[in-house]
Amino acid sequence: MTGSDREQLASMAGKARDAMGVEALDVLADRGYFSGEEILACEAMGVTPYVPKPLTSGAKAAGRFGKQDFVYQPDQDVYRCPAGALLPRHMTTVEKGMTLHRYWDRASCTGCALKPKCTPAVERRITRWEHEAVIDALQTRMDLAPRAMRIRRRLVEHPFGTIKAWMGQTHFLMKRLPNVKTEISLHILAYNIKRMMAVLGTQPLMKAIRA
Ligand code: SF4
Repeated sequence: MTGSDREQLASMAGKARDAMGVEALDVLADRGYFSGEEILACEAMGVTPYVPKPLTSGAKAAGRFGKQDFVYQPDQDVYRCPAGALLPRHMTTVEKGMTLHRYWDRASCTGCALKPKCTPAVERRITRWEHEAVIDALQTRMDLAPRAMRIRRRLVEHPFGTIKAWMGQTHFLMKRLPNVKTEISLHILAYNIKRMMAVLGTQPLMKAIRA
């Protein structure tokens, strides 16, 4: 078991795809599920993820340019910075199993008029994961589907809000994971039955169950 949503995206997407019996699937998740490795794993299994990036840029929080202000140029394998300079790749490291490339150009940063808005260091360095193209493609999809996350909130968060309202301001009554799983399963079953009654009507639902 893992307590983190960040490691769950691909496995949950795979289960959803199998349960629906489809080959390809679009998956919408909130930013808590954002993980480059999970997004890569989704794409490998034919699942197209839509997940917003976490807002964790320290530079942006400090009022400086964030990484999103630097544009990767795949044909030259360089980043174009906000001042228009091209930052070539200088080194590669492996951290937590991820191969990371680093880009910078000290000559451009020296004397750059935008430097106070960019970095307090000698030069600004940009890090790129070897599979970052999947993150770039994800960002493009997100930009082209601005309503996607609103739809997700409307469809996905409503049931959980309703279930929480039914439960009241309380914890689960059961202890230990198998028991809690049963408790939440009963809540979800009750929600689904009430929802079907509301959408179909009691009589048509009974008829459909008997059929
Ligand atoms: S400090 Fe360097 S990376 Fe930042 S805008 Fe200036 S030239 Fe570009």
